[in-house]
Amino acid sequence: MRRGSAIGNSLDGPRAKLGNVVLKFEHSGEETEFDELYKIRHSLAHVLAQAVLEIRPGSTLGFGPPIRDGFYYDFVLSSPITSDDFPEITRRMKKICKQGQKFYREDLEAEEALKRIEEMGEPYKREYGAELIAKNNLTSLSFYRNGPFLDMCQGPHVDNTREIPRDAFKLRSVAGAYWRGDSKNTMMTRIYAWAFEKQDELDAYVSAYEEAQARDHKRLGRELGIYAIDNDIGKGLPLWLPNGTVIRDELERLAKELEFKAGYQRVATPHLAKESLYHTTGHLPYYAEDMYPPMELLESADDEENGSTERVKESYRLRPMNCPHHHKVYAAEPRSYRDLPLRLAEYGQVYRFEDSGAVSGLLRVRGMCMNDAHIYCTREQIKSEFKAILQMYQQAYDILGLDKFHIRLSKWDPEDPKGKEKYVDNPDAWRESERVLEEVLNEMEIEFKEGIGEGAFYGPKIDIQFTTVTGREESVSTVQLDFAVPGRMDLKYVGSDGEEHTPFCIHRAPFSTHERMVAFLIEHYNGAFPTWLAPLQVQLLTVSEQFDEYAQSIVERLRQQLVRAELAPSNDTLPKKIRQGATRKIPNLLIIGEREVADGTVTLRRYGRKDQVTVSVEAFESALLHAISSRAPEVVLQD
Ligand SMILES: [Zn+2]
Ligand SMILES: [Zn+2]
Repeated sequence: MRRGSAIGNSLDGPRAKLGNVVLKFEHSGEETEFDELYKIRHSLAHVLAQAVLEIRPGSTLGFGPPIRDGFYYDFVLSSPITSDDFPEITRRMKKICKQGQKFYREDLEAEEALKRIEEMGEPYKREYGAELIAKNNLTSLSFYRNGPFLDMCQGPHVDNTREIPRDAFKLRSVAGAYWRGDSKNTMMTRIYAWAFEKQDELDAYVSAYEEAQARDHKRLGRELGIYAIDNDIGKGLPLWLPNGTVIRDELERLAKELEFKAGYQRVATPHLAKESLYHTTGHLPYYAEDMYPPMELLESADDEENGSTERVKESYRLRPMNCPHHHKVYAAEPRSYRDLPLRLAEYGQVYRFEDSGAVSGLLRVRGMCMNDAHIYCTREQIKSEFKAILQMYQQAYDILGLDKFHIRLSKWDPEDPKGKEKYVDNPDAWRESERVLEEVLNEMEIEFKEGIGEGAFYGPKIDIQFTTVTGREESVSTVQLDFAVPGRMDLKYVGSDGEEHTPFCIHRAPFSTHERMVAFLIEHYNGAFPTWLAPLQVQLLTVSEQFDEYAQSIVERLRQQLVRAELAPSNDTLPKKIRQGATRKIPNLLIIGEREVADGTVTLRRYGRKDQVTVSVEAFESALLHAISSRAPEVVLQD
């Protein structure tokens, strides 16, 4: 008898999402909400295991579930498998499909079921089967057989293997995976595959996947020298390399200009604060999981008169957000209605303790620098401030060339049974502030969707949801209205009536964090940044070494005007220099040969364009400086 079984269920926890189908993984035997694609993927996992056992007899099996775009199976292999084995495995899988093996279900009483798995020689399945029975008080387990292959599994499957579309699956990769995701357990070999109902769906998915891989910010970030992660520094704490730092600085410069013009004032505040501050704001204890643990130290008690040497214990926390510090800047001076709106801005570094499994590239990090500002205003000023902020967002996106986004008005959920824990309990304030934001959007004729239950705990917000070039939805920026925390922090201003009032606070960050924004822009531009943002703006390539001096004089001339220009190393041939410039995605390459030196010209090759234009040094320089100062998508030469 063939050995092997696939406990295809309960792998992704009690509920897993596959496309738009929600799967319930209780071992009830009821088959609900499983669609055709799920059955195909599930059946294919059996077929994969069957084929692998044919070429690697003596291997044992782990889990083999359907996933978002296909399925995988985990093995302890009798000898290794690489992607070189994929054609052979695929051939065998297709053969099994052609044979039209029927899936038969058999339910065995618990004890007998475990005996059966033992006979199959599957220690990992035995462990899991016993656990399923004990945990859920099961009286039986179900098995499926197709051809010679036996599998402990809940189903459902296709009726027989001929129903599996043979041209709509593709083995993708081999990876290591610990049994049950625990590094203390055996390392298994996981084989991933894509699977769809139709071949053209598979083809479309695979090409979108490859495109996303090519644009992936982790890959381009490394290739273009933008950032690095070093284990000695720590997980999720990116080091910005010189090229990445240029991009950060340019984004920051743009943000500061827009903010200056809109009447913001800059502040600078420390990266940490006493723990007690976060109890006042309400971040602790609720937000504790997302914060780094406390730093404890002994502080001399400030009691100079008595000359006391008493030492007191203090706890400090790295800040997870800038708001409390800015609230303290607000509170540092007495405020009157004449000071409002008060707009305080800072590119502020914050630290959040992301789960180590979630930390990835620049998108999920533990240290990030936020384009933050807090606007303190009266009730009457909320609308005009929101309008000005949304206009600034639009300006920023126009410059960056971002136009695929939609707006979501995120509200509280008055029906939420846990609403009192999740939201500030003030229904009137919620209704009032949601109405104000809705008016803002309507008056600006901005289309929006509503997100019930998506509000912040202290008030509603307007979220800007981007669709990335690879079709992923990404929340890049938000504007939030806070009617609660200023009161909690006891912030006041003296109104025109001579009485004390509590201001409203608006939180906003059009450029998000540097980490999130740069990751997003790398993929958006596919690493080919426009001249104003590009780490290296101009590279000069000489046809031969004898022209280096002329080229170097142009480099100097450009650098004096703050242009990031350099001369390519001269020991390479011109075609090689051009290829390398393209690999680095440098927006402007200037070719210098005999004719250019004689005429005082340069020959310009722009990234992604085939044409070359020869112009005077002066003409190029003025077009370049104009493109940089206007933050244009590319250098445009005047005829
Ligand atoms: Zn199955
Ligand atoms: Zn804030």
